[in-house]
Amino acid sequence: MLREHFPGLNQRVHGKPLVYFDNAATAQRPQAVIDAINDYYINHNANVHRGVHFLSESATDLYENARLSLAKLLNAPSPKNLIFVRGCTEAINLVAQTFVRSKIKAGDEILISHLEHHSNIVPWQILREQTGAVLKVIPMNEQGELNLESIDELITEKTAFMSVVHVSNALGTINPVKTLIAKAKEAGIPVMLDGAQAVPHLKVDVQDLDCDFYTVSGHKMYGPTGSGILYGKAEHLEEMPPYQGGGEMISKVTFDHTVYNAVPAKFEAGTPNIAGGIGLGAAAEFMMTIGMDKIAQRDSELRVYTELALKQVPGLKLIGTAAEKSPVFSFVIEGIHAHDVGTIIDHYGVAIRTGHHCTMPIFQYYGLAGSCRASLAFYNTEQEVDVLVDSLIKARKMFE
Ligand code: PMP
Repeated sequence: MLREHFPGLNQRVHGKPLVYFDNAATAQRPQAVIDAINDYYINHNANVHRGVHFLSESATDLYENARLSLAKLLNAPSPKNLIFVRGCTEAINLVAQTFVRSKIKAGDEILISHLEHHSNIVPWQILREQTGAVLKVIPMNEQGELNLESIDELITEKTAFMSVVHVSNALGTINPVKTLIAKAKEAGIPVMLDGAQAVPHLKVDVQDLDCDFYTVSGHKMYGPTGSGILYGKAEHLEEMPPYQGGGEMISKVTFDHTVYNAVPAKFEAGTPNIAGGIGLGAAAEFMMTIGMDKIAQRDSELRVYTELALKQVPGLKLIGTAAEKSPVFSFVIEGIHAHDVGTIIDHYGVAIRTGHHCTMPIFQYYGLAGSCRASLAFYNTEQEVDVLVDSLIKARKMFE
């Protein structure tokens, strides 16, 4: 059984079996990831890349093998295309402050979408303040899908960069990223995809997508918190300036001049999150062993089942009904504040998230302060969905 790999799922909360439906916030970790982290701290604990001693070499091997596993998962041409980061937030800030900042002039335009997480909005606003760049937004419709027709008008001679979310964390919409990339490429515009919510659910092939940058959040793909990956095309990584200065990212330092290290070390200043990187590699191996096809199949079974089951809850309205969706359900229930729903069903053991899910502009579009969000992973079950539905019906009854 898929669930048996995840010891965290076997808990009781408030005396009830845990139903963990907050996977878009952070996923549970499989034993293989926990074991890899423990193994590093117990058997290989040393700093990486700089020691000649046995432990340092074995820690370095584990860390670099993790990079290799992630390159396999994403079908990157080489592990050198991958930079270890703290998560998607850091990956996006890194690209904004290096690749884009080094090229952009006042009046140049950055294109994002209405479906972005704050982490793909605020870094561009910071860049706007620094450079005088202009931020443009691809609009969405009532279903929570992007309006593709608008793109031809939004792309101008001044568009310098496009950064779009692959899968929306708030609504579950899977964006037509290949179409978006094709449109950008026609105009010679580099594209970054925020893959935080895509990698846990979809087979992502960065070469097939032909994106310039792709961001991965470790803790959403069953890996450790504070871990992540930035994929970049080699020519960009070679050319762009470093993000942070310090140890590891240099090959020679004098007081007059510093020669930077080769990619990817150029972007990895300081002692990295070694255990996190190793754990993330174990998560990638775990996902490949389960198989992305199997994960996607379970996702789609759960999505269909949940969509139907939620119809039994009186007064429930789904927010975001895109044709292509991951198993993420944003909803409101007539007459009950989202926060109250979350608190009540927690007492039945059900963990969901309530609020704006770091996507305030989406809820501004719908005229809502926020929603309840049940976000499922492949290890969830139909029985758990039934518990969610029962607990929502009970919550609704309390407010009648
Ligand atoms: N983008 C999306 C779509 C997300 O869901 C999240 C996390 N909620 C982020 C970016 C930020 O990712 P991280 O936590 O890895 O910084």
